[in-house]
Amino acid sequence: MKKIIFATGNEGKMKEIREIMADLDVEILSMKEAGITADIEENGRTFEENAVIKARTVMELCHEIVLADDSGLEIDYLNKEPGVHSARYMGEDTSYRIKNQNLIDRLAGVPDEKRTARFVCVIAAAFPDGEVLTAEGTIEGRIGYEERGTNGFGYDPIFYVPQYGCSTAELPPEIKNEISHRGKALRKMKKELQARKEG
Ligand code: IMP
Repeated sequence: MKKIIFATGNEGKMKEIREIMADLDVEILSMKEAGITADIEENGRTFEENAVIKARTVMELCHEIVLADDSGLEIDYLNKEPGVHSARYMGEDTSYRIKNQNLIDRLAGVPDEKRTARFVCVIAAAFPDGEVLTAEGTIEGRIGYEERGTNGFGYDPIFYVPQYGCSTAELPPEIKNEISHRGKALRKMKKELQARKEG
């Protein structure tokens, strides 16, 4: 295992994966760096299905080991919405200020204990021999009453983490990476890859 391609166009995700996988002794390339372009339809019903679709599609194009992730926000009171539709919720081009305010409004009058939510991330690895591995990470929290903080992205300003007494947009990035759904899933996947390398 010398090279791994991470099927994303997101620079923030590339930075995080490179930091977490640094001691794995493999070169990690973005799709752009590997010269791959693919328009992948994320039509799965679960985070796992979508991550596997992305990893497999890109692996079939380049015949290298490919990692892909899918993530989103599940709000219990809204039957786990926006879920796999997190990026597309209210339209891909709608600002997160509007999406976040909409979710706050939909939870108007809902007490603290019913505002539970989690970020979920599934990382899939597709190998040229057809094998597929997946790893999941979650972080539990609650939907806040207003946007707070300017770090992070997406739904971070409304995702309140009780243990830290603040939103994930108020956490320093290194703390968020340590406790986040994506950080947890990436570290689990790193263990799987290490075991495969040694096995
Ligand atoms: P994807 O995994 O790149 O398809 O994106 C999923 C969507 O879920 C993002 O566009 C965000 O709306 C949301 N999301 C996933 N992870 C986070 C996070 O760590 N903070 C805030 N929003 C997130």
